[in-house]
Amino acid sequence: HADIAMYRAKQGGKNNITFYSPEMNAVDAARSSIEKHLRGALERKELSLVYQPLHDLGGGLAGVEALLRWHSPALGHVPPASFIPVAEDTGLILPIGQHVIQEACRQLAAWRQAGTDIARVSINVSPAQFAQEDFVDVVRRALHRHRLEGRELELELTERMIIRDVDAVSRKLSELRALGIRISIDDFGTGNSALNYLMTLPVTTLKVDQAFIQALDRQPGAYRVVQAIVALGHALGMDVVAEGVETPAQLLQVRELGCERTQGFLLGRPVRPEALLGPRD
Ligand code: C2E
Ligand code: MG
Ligand code: MG
Ligand code: MG
Repeated sequence: HADIAMYRAKQGGKNNITFYSPEMNAVDAARSSIEKHLRGALERKELSLVYQPLHDLGGGLAGVEALLRWHSPALGHVPPASFIPVAEDTGLILPIGQHVIQEACRQLAAWRQAGTDIARVSINVSPAQFAQEDFVDVVRRALHRHRLEGRELELELTERMIIRDVDAVSRKLSELRALGIRISIDDFGTGNSALNYLMTLPVTTLKVDQAFIQALDRQPGAYRVVQAIVALGHALGMDVVAEGVETPAQLLQVRELGCERTQGFLLGRPVRPEALLGPRD
């Protein structure tokens, strides 16, 4: 699927696209192909969730993050980085996002039923989804339906969506917090340099972007940057998650820096829910 590879490459390097280049047409073609096949993908049950563990400082399981997977009969496995932006632009993210909330809550309850105690599930939320007037109700209903407590849920938002409409965002976040739901800023440090929202919004967690974690091995400045993010989070009473931990050296450093939770390929890849069945330590 060279077209999708091309699309991804171009997503990462938008500035290199010239107005009339032939690649531009390939990018457009890949995008509309993704759009075409994504329509109805939910109904055809082509979308599923995998779950990646988050660990606490003692190495125990602190929870899992739900991550979407799409297997299209026509396109094969399409990574979220390729289809989520298309879903966002077309509005398809709304039914998909609702499904993710329902399904992740159902799964957490199902694990519990099966005797697997997973304390919390983290769910990624898209800007358009969060902007829906009934977003808080959708979440509340999902919790209620599966008999879950708010503290068993963490919503991962991004900086760019949180600074959009501060009043509406603030109101929704307060309602979610009142339910006990944790609010995490995903990919922290790469989105927007505005920090003022952190003073007023009831955010509970900073999730340091994996680029910083991976740079710990290579760039001397990375350690200081992560150190500063941890200090900022802690000063505001938040906990800090290091994501994208791939090497033992990185794990050692993020623990030393005081990140309360860690996530990454070193500790566990995203897996099918069945793989997490069984008693936890
Ligand atoms: P994210 O929320 O920041 O999720 C972390 C991504 O990093 C996941 O990629 C995960 O597989 C990957 N990852 C975890 N540990 C490591 C590591 O040690 N090394 C490396 N190189 N990567 C690691 P994935 O599953 O491809 O998802 C990419 C992005 O797509 C997510 O980034 C999130 O922004 C978005 N996404 C995924 N599922 C959903 C969803 O249900 N809803 C929404 N709105 N977005 C989603
Ligand atoms: Mg995330
Ligand atoms: Mg992230
Ligand atoms: Mg990301």
